[in-house]
Parts: sequence; structure tokens; C-alpha cells
Amino acid sequence: MNDCIFCKIAKGEIDSQKIYEDDTVLAFNDLDPQAPTHILVIPKEHIESAKDINESNSQVIAHIFEVISYIAGDLSLNDDGFRVVSNSGENAGQSVNHLHFHLLSGRPFAWPPG
Ligand code: AMP
Repeated sequence: MNDCIFCKIAKGEIDSQKIYEDDTVLAFNDLDPQAPTHILVIPKEHIESAKDINESNSQVIAHIFEVISYIAGDLSLNDDGFRVVSNSGENAGQSVNHLHFHLLSGRPFAWPPG
């Protein structure tokens, strides 16, 4: 999508601090980190949010979770643990309409979320 900031990051048109990249998935540091580790993992193709996951694109979602597991191992996040969050829609606080998974670690997280 032309005006989507995460599409532009995926294409390299906007800089990001890349953590991981392959043909279909990109992971980069969040601009406004909410924890010592705060990484966004996105599909390169434009999918608006979790509401748009279906059998035509779910393969990339499965791959995203493989990437999350790889990053967690690579950055040694497994001992203390980590949280994966995807906000979908207004009440959940989604502010960028390109599906993304927040990978958060490095401090305790409350439950239930606020
Ligand atoms: P959400 O509110 O769940 O839609 O999450 C969007 C996230 O994208 C927020 O945590 C923002 O800090 C982050 N964000 C927005 N623009 C950028 C950017 N250019 N580079 C990195 N992270 C960004």
C-alpha cells in the first residue's frame, strides 16, 4: 500500500533498525520502546490486521512465529521470558494499519493488560 509506513519500511524506503529479514518477514526495533527489548515483526506483504488472516496468507503468519522463536533464542530472551502482542482495531489500540507482532522482553509484564 502506497501510504503505509510499514510497507515503506519493508521496502527499505524508510530506515529501520533491522533485527531480522528474509523474503517475506522483517523484524525491526520499535521507535518508542515499551520494554528493554521491543521488536516489531511484520509480514512484508500488506495485511491490515489479525482480522485479515485467512488461508491465503496464514503461511506467512506461521513463519512469523518461527522468526519470533528464532529471535528469542538469538537474543537470549527465553530464560526471563517474553510477550507477543498484536493489536487489532481501535479498542485494542492499533495505531499502524499493517499487521505487526510486538515482541517484548526485559521486564515483568502485568496481566491482564490494561
Ligand atoms: P500499534 O499501536 O499496536 O499499532 O503499534 C504500532 C507501533 O509502531 C508502535 O509501538 C510505534 O511505536 C511503532 N512505530 C510507528 N512508526 C514506527 C517506525 N517508523 N519505526 C519503528 N516503529 C514504529
